[in-house]
Amino acid sequence: MEINLVSDTITKPTYEMLQYMFNAEVGDDVYKQDPTVIELEDTIADVFGMEAGLFFPSGTMANQTAIKLHTQPGEQIIADKYAHIYLYEAGGASFNSGVSFSLLDGDQGRITAEQVAGAINDPEFYHSPLTSLVCVENTTNKGGGACYELDELQKIKTVCDAHNLKFHLDGARIWNALIAKKQDPKSFGRLFDTISVCLSKGLGAPIGSVLLADKATITRALRIRKMLGGGMRQVGYLAAAGLYALDHNVIRLSEDHRRAKELAGILRKTSWVATIAPVETNIVIFTLKSNYKEAEVIEKLKQKNISISAMGQGKLRMVTHLDYREVMHTYVLETLSKLAL
Ligand SMILES: *Cc1c(COP(=O)(O)O)cnc(C)c1O
Repeated sequence: MEINLVSDTITKPTYEMLQYMFNAEVGDDVYKQDPTVIELEDTIADVFGMEAGLFFPSGTMANQTAIKLHTQPGEQIIADKYAHIYLYEAGGASFNSGVSFSLLDGDQGRITAEQVAGAINDPEFYHSPLTSLVCVENTTNKGGGACYELDELQKIKTVCDAHNLKFHLDGARIWNALIAKKQDPKSFGRLFDTISVCLSKGLGAPIGSVLLADKATITRALRIRKMLGGGMRQVGYLAAAGLYALDHNVIRLSEDHRRAKELAGILRKTSWVATIAPVETNIVIFTLKSNYKEAEVIEKLKQKNISISAMGQGKLRMVTHLDYREVMHTYVLETLSKLAL
């Protein structure tokens, strides 16, 4: 039994999902003639109470499109220092949009309205880049799956409005936040100019993200997606996986969250773990006491058929997901509690 806790992106489509994909009705989506893609875009837009959606092959391309929509070259984005758009999109923001970042030192990847307000450059002071966009991530990835409170996001939105800034949500794992916090997706739809959501993380689809916005913005996004090379043809087969995932794999995310909390509970009792970041969703980030080495722990677990990952700066990560089943969980809990280092 191979147990992979490296990421929630490692899930494979089930037989039922593949069957649903196989039966999809498709057309040429570049001509907007794929009914399944349209159904997925409309369904997710409705969930968030937004006007329109656009299907993307990856969350990165959806985020990059959002940045391009909201900025001009030379301008600046405000985001947390751990932001995926800053750390893990290959410098795409500077390459595709010619923008720089003002990075904030948030709490587990979450930033506050006060921090945002303090990072906005005076638009009259022409020596500084013009601030034009604020991006938040929910849940945070490198921040350890932390979730925002809606009232803090509302405060950030108020700051954005007062300073004429656009507001983008990188919601790769928004589904986890919605389940963990029992929040209404429409509250998010009301706050943001654009939202990107992933179907290929906790929801278990093999591919796919959707960018949400008003109709006029999505019309502009269509051209940007084309510029980035993201026009796709009979891609309803892939959109079908997303529709299947929305129907079957959202509510069950609470199981991933319970298991992540139980993993943290066991880690807390070991002699080799120093700190564990608060676990709110499906990500557990922990550090080791100074006499233990990360590579050693990873290797020891590997010998027991358990894969976890290192995140740099002494941090280790475990992510629970659809393919991490209860039998595996029982085995991992037992293995961790007995692990001799
Ligand atoms: C995974 C992820 C993305 C998008 O990743 P892709 O692999 O391009 O789909 C964006 N933001 C966050 C926070 C992520 O975790």
